[in-house]
Amino acid sequence: MIHPLVDRHTHLEGALAPAWVRSEAERRRLALPGPLETLWSGGSVPFEGFIEAFLFGAALLDSREAVREAVRAVVQRTHACGGSGFDLWASPHFLVAHRGQITLDAFWRGVEEGLAEAAVQGVRGCVVVDAVNHFGPKHGHSVLDLVLPELPPFVRGFSTGGLEGSPFRDWAPVFDRARDAGLRVAAHAGENGPGSNVREAVLEGGVARIVHGIRADDATLDLLADRGVPVDICPTSNRALAADVAPHPLPRMLAAGVRCALGTDDPGVAPCDLRTEAAAARSMGLDATALETLRRNGAEDAWCLA
Ligand SMILES: [Zn+2]
Repeated sequence: MIHPLVDRHTHLEGALAPAWVRSEAERRRLALPGPLETLWSGGSVPFEGFIEAFLFGAALLDSREAVREAVRAVVQRTHACGGSGFDLWASPHFLVAHRGQITLDAFWRGVEEGLAEAAVQGVRGCVVVDAVNHFGPKHGHSVLDLVLPELPPFVRGFSTGGLEGSPFRDWAPVFDRARDAGLRVAAHAGENGPGSNVREAVLEGGVARIVHGIRADDATLDLLADRGVPVDICPTSNRALAADVAPHPLPRMLAAGVRCALGTDDPGVAPCDLRTEAAAARSMGLDATALETLRRNGAEDAWCLA
């Protein structure tokens, strides 16, 4: 059986097509940040440079049309690789409340229109609302205050991202509240923070899914395998933002029985797609069976197909 191909982790704000960003920057008479040009040409930059590049695209998402364009970029990238689904992380609080550059209504309408276009192409998507870990649990509650009163049906999950700056045990009440509202809960953990964050996110935060998790030790991999916790792996992003984690632990994670799947993370900033990520997995020595496992996990644990 051939399983549907799913991009298991991609961010709305980091997905915009470079050609659109370039033309939009020209239209607005904005200079492209140097780090963005460097990343587009395949170079690497320090973490701060990555954030500068990411925020430049995010700042362009100030209208319903721009948000729809970002979803379109995800759909086109997925569709071009033969994909039929994506789990899309999005940060409405950052754009609506923190930066005040768009209304929540316009934001959701842009997403909704993009997802409707996706459905016409046979591509299914859902949204995971992302909160910023290092802003702390109070911020997490603010994110829920913003989105829960009128939660669109395509929002399936809640997650933390950003720097792993505040302990996951402190986030437990926020995660409980999200679960009580019917959302599934994920966390970026063990990416820019220690591997112990992965264990804590699962055991004390009760999260059902880990993004990255690449710094987890063997005991934590066993825990993830025992509990069947899905882990989203994004090789291009890891190379750009966690280059010190080498060799990449994906083969070790799969060997331990962890339910890993591939995602693109920020493909409009650090260019990649599901094909490049599969090629990266192959270059780690994974065989066709392992690649099929990644694809099967990608479909079976996807929230967009649930
Ligand atoms: Zn991410």
